[in-house]
Amino acid sequence: MYRRNISNLLYPIAAVLALFIVYEAVVKPTPHQTQLPSSVNQSAVKNNAQAPGEPPSDDPQPAPEKQMRMIDAGGIPDTKYHDTLEAIRDDIEKGNLKTAESQLTDLPPHVQADALTRSYSAVLWNNLGIEQEKLEGTKASVKAFKKASSLDPKNPVILLNLAHAYWEQRDPAMNQDFLERLIEVAPQEPFPHMALADWFQERGRLSEAGRHLDQAVERAGTDPSLQSYLRTVTSKVHQTDQMDRRLASREGAHFSVKYDGDKDVDSWTTVLDILEEAYREIGQNFGHFPSKTVVVVLHPNAAFQADTGSPAWADGLFDPVLGRIHLPTQGALTDRAWLKRVLRHEFVHALVHDYQGINHNALPTWLNEGLAMQLSSDHWTEVDDLRRANVTFVPLTTLEGSWSDLSAEAASAAYLEANSAARYLLTRYGMHEVVQLLGRLKNRQPLAAAIQDELSVSYDQLQSRLMAQWQEARSKG
Ligand SMILES: [Zn+2]
Repeated sequence: MYRRNISNLLYPIAAVLALFIVYEAVVKPTPHQTQLPSSVNQSAVKNNAQAPGEPPSDDPQPAPEKQMRMIDAGGIPDTKYHDTLEAIRDDIEKGNLKTAESQLTDLPPHVQADALTRSYSAVLWNNLGIEQEKLEGTKASVKAFKKASSLDPKNPVILLNLAHAYWEQRDPAMNQDFLERLIEVAPQEPFPHMALADWFQERGRLSEAGRHLDQAVERAGTDPSLQSYLRTVTSKVHQTDQMDRRLASREGAHFSVKYDGDKDVDSWTTVLDILEEAYREIGQNFGHFPSKTVVVVLHPNAAFQADTGSPAWADGLFDPVLGRIHLPTQGALTDRAWLKRVLRHEFVHALVHDYQGINHNALPTWLNEGLAMQLSSDHWTEVDDLRRANVTFVPLTTLEGSWSDLSAEAASAAYLEANSAARYLLTRYGMHEVVQLLGRLKNRQPLAAAIQDELSVSYDQLQSRLMAQWQEARSKG
């Protein structure tokens, strides 16, 4: 049911972010589906599916390569601080990072007056950051890289390491000014252009994003897979840019609604009202608000499928890479209940996606969809219908990845299970614990370990409890 070509929008957009696998682990958009597929109850249910965001199998993939760069700390400046600096260097190499950090911090300010010593201190801070990152990730290293770049702001290796840490931490300091400075000191690197393209696309400035992608292509070297990948992405971003040009835009406090066709004031206002309410209510409940404006694109019915490549029965979708919500205008003007239901569901995806940041793919699909169903406070009468049907509980472990290969029936059961699982977690442990669990996944803890550590129950036990609850509900139904 998800076999339709989604490359018009999702694939290119997915590819934009996936570019960063050059520096990061693979970033694969999470596939979603927002409501039960049409086979469940075609007459009564307006179905709402999120097209799978996974790049198709022919997606050209650049080789993942995390470029964390040590700087050779061999040439210690021959000053009276030689021995101190040497001791710090040795501590870093031996892994005595706390000692090294306090020694570096305690260096008297006048030490930095000497240019050689200053730049050598920057090297030590850089190398300290890399060792810290190996142990505790970029959250631990960003401070050291910042210190290093303040001491030697023109060192391209240090700035690239800082950019990498900013990127992973989604630090707002990774802004246009910073990236332009990085481009100045590292003019041949593709990454700063890719990052700046991302910065622009987040702000809806796709023309500028496209220009920087073009420049990234020029700097991608001779790696044929990276070249091919960037060219594909770039051409798709230009296409999306072209598509955006025909859209009118209306800005709300936290949302930007783009609209193709009828610019009816009431529909703008309705969409923004529903979203602002969802923002306040769901954001408050979840304890997080999206860090940037969420773009919502309303497509005329006839164009929705073509624009988004979504399945015929889809009501809406969240594109996890550009972070955009897409809706057909079908029902938008006449069926407020439908509109509210779809917008709130997609908003939860946008919110959770924003919270998870770069590691959003660590979230299992069952939890992502279950939370969207639960947090949007939607009433799923079709879920009740399904509960009465003869549906078999499948292990949650089989519902962690893409659901795009599931049959319609299996997908329906998957939503039902996702909903049950999320409801169980929220009822049994509460929102705070669930958000803490997401936080663990965000910090790259494997799912089973995160469940065990946060909920003091094994993944297997959790599934057994869910299955027992499921069977009990079924027997009552
Ligand atoms: Zn969904």
